[in-house]
Amino acid sequence: ARTPVTVTVTGGAGQIAYGLLFRIAAGDMLGPDTPVRLRLLEIPAAVQALEGVAMELEDCAFPLLESVDISDDPWDGFSGANVAVLVGARPRTARMERADLLAANGPIFTDQGAAISASAADDVRVLVVGNPANTNAFIAMSNAPEVPAERFTALTRLDHNRAIAQLARRTGAAAADIARITVWGNHSATQYPDLGHATVAGRPAAGAVGDPAWVRDEFIPTVQRRGTAIIEARGASSAASAAAAAIDHIRDWTLGTAPGDWVSMAVPSDGSYGVPEGLISSFPVTCAAGEYTIVPGLEIDEFSRERIDASVAELESEREAVIGLGFA
Ligand code: NDP
Repeated sequence: ARTPVTVTVTGGAGQIAYGLLFRIAAGDMLGPDTPVRLRLLEIPAAVQALEGVAMELEDCAFPLLESVDISDDPWDGFSGANVAVLVGARPRTARMERADLLAANGPIFTDQGAAISASAADDVRVLVVGNPANTNAFIAMSNAPEVPAERFTALTRLDHNRAIAQLARRTGAAAADIARITVWGNHSATQYPDLGHATVAGRPAAGAVGDPAWVRDEFIPTVQRRGTAIIEARGASSAASAAAAAIDHIRDWTLGTAPGDWVSMAVPSDGSYGVPEGLISSFPVTCAAGEYTIVPGLEIDEFSRERIDASVAELESEREAVIGLGFA
């Protein structure tokens, strides 16, 4: 049997975790041959609920699940972690501004970054799901001196998958026939889902889409506002689809992307495409052997440039805010 992988998930008693943990334990994230040790982290008030989740995991008798440990202490919870999925975050409540949200989450991700740095495995790979995900990842990265910066990433894969779904619906193609979708920037309303390089059954998406106004007037706003549409329909925010996207993100990062295709991940910028170095911004990436590479050399037209710049400007202002608050 292969060496077990230790996976820490924060917010283990929450909605997204409820969609995520059972799939990790079933082997969907790391493959059908890799045993998993789960370490679940929660705030003290949610530990009792977390015990219930751990009982359910046990009751599935998953062949790959070697152990489930629960904790309310990040220094314990990240111990030995090879993969850390940071789902837990302070939710935005009514009348809370984005600045308040940054202030509420700063201490959580400062502590978790430090704990990961001190206690996780040398090969730890981090995915931040809890919002504001890009900036929470930036805070954790900034507080983790022992961990290479490129190991800190944030989730834009749900936006990427939503973009695939919208293009599939428009063109009548299967999701599997769509490739080279990109989401740029922040996981927020300013994100830019880009069809400029996308293909449908190997041909440029533009031809399959028909009317170019659809991209600007329907596709982009629908993807940007899909989270709100789910809340309105379901009465709760997306959970199973966010969990599925987190599975996809880690699976592709560790096991590789399909030949000829790429995925979207928010990763620390190396300066590519004019995104300031160190900002955690979404890019098209390919993955192989556990490493991701930003897809080089794509042509960026004026329409795309404006939208990428707007989302990156928002990320820069969030970075300034958390530096001002002393979190980075
Ligand atoms: P969810 O599990 O539904 O969501 C968790 C986080 O994921 C939120 O910040 C949410 O942002 C974010 N998120 C990112 N992308 C998406 C998406 N596409 N759709 C929906 N959500 C998205 O929240 P719950 O309140 O059910 O659970 C959170 C749990 O985290 C609680 O049990 C809480 O106790 C715990 N927690 C744990 C901490 C820790 O382990 N130290 C710290 C803080 C909280 P948004 O709010 O914008 O929807």
